[in-house]
Amino acid sequence: MAAGEQLAGAKPKALMTARQQLRQALQRGKLVHAYLLAGGSEAARMELARYLAATLNCQEPREGEPCGRCRSCQQMAGGNHPDFYLFKPQGATLKIDQIRELERQLTFRAFQGGARVAVLAGADTMTEAAANCLLKTLEEPPEGAYLILLAAQPDLLLPTIRSRCQELHLGGEGGVSPAGATYWNRLAGAGLAAMLQEILPELEKEDDLPAVLQAMALACRDQLVWQLTGTATLLLQPGYLLPVPLSPAKAWRCFQLIQAARAAIERNGNRRLALEVLMFNLHRELASTPE
Ligand SMILES: [Zn+2]
Repeated sequence: MAAGEQLAGAKPKALMTARQQLRQALQRGKLVHAYLLAGGSEAARMELARYLAATLNCQEPREGEPCGRCRSCQQMAGGNHPDFYLFKPQGATLKIDQIRELERQLTFRAFQGGARVAVLAGADTMTEAAANCLLKTLEEPPEGAYLILLAAQPDLLLPTIRSRCQELHLGGEGGVSPAGATYWNRLAGAGLAAMLQEILPELEKEDDLPAVLQAMALACRDQLVWQLTGTATLLLQPGYLLPVPLSPAKAWRCFQLIQAARAAIERNGNRRLALEVLMFNLHRELASTPE
């Protein structure tokens, strides 16, 4: 999928404001070492992270913008800058081994004498072990290293992680698309044929499918929270609880299945395949005997 296509679903104004904030911080020498880029689309979050990395490493930046011509800018554009590290979820989650690898990379000196920038895409999918491991790096970041966390749903991050990052919002605050919860309710009541023939084609046509899947996953999360706590104020999308509740274990597995589909689509863009896998897995989960 073209970046522009995904960006169409973002709120460009929020993106431009966030970019402006970063540029001012750069020009005043007030950058912090950890940013959390929250909300908006994955493409918008990534664009901002790349802008920051390019500007920090550009050999001739002009008024806070990368020149686009120097060796560093060309390497950034070509995706082979030696001091830029990108970590993405493996399957449904960012894992502790990836955070350890990130720590290891950051112990080296910058190859080109500029800044080392590590981007954690899908930071809101970090396992608890990964998050605890990352805390150490956030507390004492190596000299000249910048960490940029990208999260569709910053609320899913540990508060200890969040408090150590400066947050920039790219729009869609509280940005849960109601379409996601509606799809979830329909899926939970549908047979496999309806899932594949009616719901899948509609989902496939959604402009910002990752955001819709995210909202669907959050509807599962609400189901789980409701059954475990019975506290309505903890729900993100009240009004979408299923009439026949799922067990917490099933709700948790559905949540993971949806997150895995979202990650797969953001990774390789094959919507049809990811959605078919999701439908089969959800059907198996929802149709199996209650626990
Ligand atoms: Zn440059």
